[in-house]
Order: sequence, then structure tokens, then C-alpha cells
Amino acid sequence: MRSRFLRLLTVIGLMLGSVGLGAALGPAPASAAYGAVKWPASGVITSRVDDRCPGYDNHDGYDIAGNYRSVVSAAYSGSVSYIGYDTGGYGNYVIISHVNGWSTLYAHLDGYVSRMRVGEYFNRGDGIGYMGYTGGVSPPGVGGTHLHFEMLRYNSPQVWNSAGSCGQSVTRGNSIPFDFVGLN
Ligand SMILES: [Zn+2]
Repeated sequence: MRSRFLRLLTVIGLMLGSVGLGAALGPAPASAAYGAVKWPASGVITSRVDDRCPGYDNHDGYDIAGNYRSVVSAAYSGSVSYIGYDTGGYGNYVIISHVNGWSTLYAHLDGYVSRMRVGEYFNRGDGIGYMGYTGGVSPPGVGGTHLHFEMLRYNSPQVWNSAGSCGQSVTRGNSIPFDFVGLN
């Protein structure tokens, strides 16, 4: 009787133990990289990758429409690798290089923070510039103010459309709900 009781206690203990372990672990995280990249601007998603919200368009990133001159920040830590101007396209744009082949591109900027230069290091969340409507935006002028934002790996735009829906509001500094493998 006594040994059977102990055996029963042991079984209950094991069951409780496995339940406790499961609760502590929770649902398996996609990976350590999930959510490591942050939205670089506050606004509304008006385009995604190859998606004009609605309708197909050859488009390499997300458009986030927000307030003119609102802050645009680094989505992930890294060094500036390129600062350019593209009259009919990107307008003022900058590329920041990260680890494991990743880079991010920020376009149509109105201008940059004063320390912006090639080689400068920005921490994730640091302001890099200001949202604007330089280059080709529709409609032209302040009404077309938005950030064009690309996630690139080995210079190829990546598709990450499950991270946000058309018309969704996003907040600068919040995690992008996506696993960009290699950005932890
Ligand atoms: Zn765009």
C-alpha cells in the first residue's frame, strides 16, 4: 500500500513536472531572431513587397505613410554603407549594412540627422532622418509623404509580407513580427 502510494505520487509528480515545464516554455518561439528588427517609422502600411495594397506592383519594400518630418530610425544596428539621391525614384535614400548579409534601405527622406555619413554606426532605434516625399511619390508633394523601407539580403529585396497588413498602423520602435534569419 505504501509503495503503491509512493508510486502514485511519483506519477503525479512527473505529470505536474511536465505540465510545469510546458507552461514555462510556452509555445516554441520561431527563433531568437523573431521581432529583433524594429519598425523604422510610425504610420500606415500602404504598400508591401510586390503589393500595392491592393494589386500587384513591382515594389521592393514596404511603404509607411506618416507625418511629414517625423523621425525615421534604424530598424537594426549597423553602419551606413550608402547615401544617395535618385531623382525619379528613391529621392534621398540611405542604406545601412548589418550582419549576415542583411541591409536596410530607407527612401524618400526629407533629410538626415546631422551625423549621417558613410561608415557612421547607428544603433537599432537611433534616428537617421526624417520622413518626406523626395523622388517619385504619388501623389507628389507633402500628400505623398511616406517612408519606403526595404529589407535586403545580399542586396536582394526580401519578401516579408506576413509581418504587416495593408492599412495597418505601425509604431516606430515596435518589433516587426517576422523572423529575419541571422538578425538576432
Ligand atoms: Zn515604396
